[in-house]
Amino acid sequence: MEAVASPCVSRCRLDPGTGRCVGCLRTADEIAAWGSLDAAGQRAVWSALARRRGESGAGLPPGLRFIERDWLSANQILGIEGNEAIVVDTGYVKHAAQTVELVRAALIDSAGDLLGDAPAVRLAGIVNTHLHSDHCGGNAALARAFDCPITIPAASAADVAAWDRVALTHATTGQRCERFSHSATLAPGDRLRLGGLDWQVLAAPGHDPKSLVFHCEREALLISADALWEQGFGVLFPELDGEPGFAGQQAALELISALPVQRVLPGHGRAFDDVQGALARAFARLDAMRSDPRRHARHALKVLVKFLLLDLERVEVDRMRETLRGASVMQRTAALIGMDFAAALAWATGELVEQGQLRRDGNWLLDA
Ligand SMILES: [Zn+2]
Repeated sequence: MEAVASPCVSRCRLDPGTGRCVGCLRTADEIAAWGSLDAAGQRAVWSALARRRGESGAGLPPGLRFIERDWLSANQILGIEGNEAIVVDTGYVKHAAQTVELVRAALIDSAGDLLGDAPAVRLAGIVNTHLHSDHCGGNAALARAFDCPITIPAASAADVAAWDRVALTHATTGQRCERFSHSATLAPGDRLRLGGLDWQVLAAPGHDPKSLVFHCEREALLISADALWEQGFGVLFPELDGEPGFAGQQAALELISALPVQRVLPGHGRAFDDVQGALARAFARLDAMRSDPRRHARHALKVLVKFLLLDLERVEVDRMRETLRGASVMQRTAALIGMDFAAALAWATGELVEQGQLRRDGNWLLDA
């Protein structure tokens, strides 16, 4: 029997309000007891954590489970029908073992069976909204752990088959992902069966021209990936590559506005019901970016540097540029801002330190 992965994600700070660690959501007691628990006890903690991460998804139809992660790892949505489940998106590779435990816990919970470690509901498939590293980084680990096939956006099929790390944006952003293979694809216009419900597969360009979102008309639910969050949306990567992205994001937001949606299950952050409010904020942010593309580029560079530090946790300032040698998207973003790469990195890290997102310790830059 393999060891149970620790829930710790190296963001160890107790939130006095909830009494839980902000990173792993364990209580101080659960953290203290972890090392002395047997595998069954540790899995019981994982079960509690999967439920805590699903709190904003309370009241979803019975076949759906929402698992809220963080910025480094995208959220999971589990759809259960009979004794089979499908998971949408799998987080970042660094958290792959934790994603496996969260999905396993949700499968066991769904079966109403808290005993034993053979889930009565089996994971029958993985579906990705898009293939940014924070959405497909657990694909390989989950496929191994649960022996299940992977379905990806059809537009990314050739990139995955060739494992083209540039086209997949993993290399161009300094991000990591374990290689996986797919066995099926989804395209706009397709139907997806998830959690006993029918979902329409729709294109949501802007953040990623190949991204899909899933809409369930009957329940007025939207799985929005990074096209719409409660506060904004993901960086518009095409714009950083010299391709139009603002128009794609406008189209994605207009598409969502025209759909019956009462609840959004986003790629990052909690599930939310104030869809009109989120759309209004997203349209306003998009207008501001479009009227000043440098503003978007500055925002994007800060997002990418923060993401890098969430992954690496610490990096020597002098070696950061070397680490990012192949990160052409970040280099082009610096050019859009009107700085050379070294100056742009210094500017972005300075801003992030000032905002408390990063810490400087001598020659080291650390995640905060
Ligand atoms: Zn993304």
